[in-house]
Amino acid sequence: MTTSWRKVERVITGRETSDGAGVRLKRVIGQPQLDYLDPFLMLDAFGSDEADDYIAGFPPHPHRGIETVTYMLAGRMRHEDDAGNAGVLGPGGVQWMTAGRGIIHSEMPEQEEGEMRGFQLWVNLPARDKMCPPRYQNIDPEEIPEVTREGGTVIRIIAGTVDGVEGPVRGIAAAPLYIDVTLPAGAVSDHALAPDHNAFCYVFGGAAAIGASETAEGKLIRDGELAVLGRGNAVRIRAGEHGARLILVAGQPLGEPVVRYGPFAMNTRDEIVQAIQDFQNGTFSTPAKP
Ligand code: MN
Repeated sequence: MTTSWRKVERVITGRETSDGAGVRLKRVIGQPQLDYLDPFLMLDAFGSDEADDYIAGFPPHPHRGIETVTYMLAGRMRHEDDAGNAGVLGPGGVQWMTAGRGIIHSEMPEQEEGEMRGFQLWVNLPARDKMCPPRYQNIDPEEIPEVTREGGTVIRIIAGTVDGVEGPVRGIAAAPLYIDVTLPAGAVSDHALAPDHNAFCYVFGGAAAIGASETAEGKLIRDGELAVLGRGNAVRIRAGEHGARLILVAGQPLGEPVVRYGPFAMNTRDEIVQAIQDFQNGTFSTPAKP
């Protein structure tokens, strides 16, 4: 198959905001500049050495119709839901939570000082799965395979396949690719992408020219910037002189109507009204199994 290199279509800078009980974060997807990149509803980048920026955490709140994906780079976060599921997510670990018909959970720091850093991505569910039973994929750091390429680029594979190595997250409707790529200075890394998937790179260390090809330099994307990729079946990334670290994420777009209300994303306004009523009536979540 001929390679058609994807180019950078748009560059987005995260918007400083606060969420939960007062956690400072950068909202990159899910803000006026980039409201939705089907199927991705939200990308938050959080990162601070100051406890005041994260200590308040995210007390109990509901989700319906979406998946929330937390990737911790530093620090520890405790998760508890109303069905009795609980756990701690540590550095390098991932929680891929398919909320489906609903969960009510809290996400609270498991530390009182030190660095807390990572990402939360919200992935929309197709209409057929919006009311599915909740499902967790909790992935310890050592379960995430790493591929090292010639030139020294290291790729952690959370979801999808790179060089024949498959990541541990499986059975997700969007058939996602979610990889963490660390490139030494000047290194070049090529990545195949499904031609019909939407894709983005978010750089969180150094800088990289993204969207390069045999004939083009690509566009320099710096620390804290997200590149929305155009069409094609591959992307070429070339690290700048200080190297680069980024996440590359792609997924199958749904092409369905989206009605959002806070932590709910459904197809119609009536379904949102139903979600609010279910939450108020206490009939929101799937009861814990006996
Ligand atoms: Mn949540």
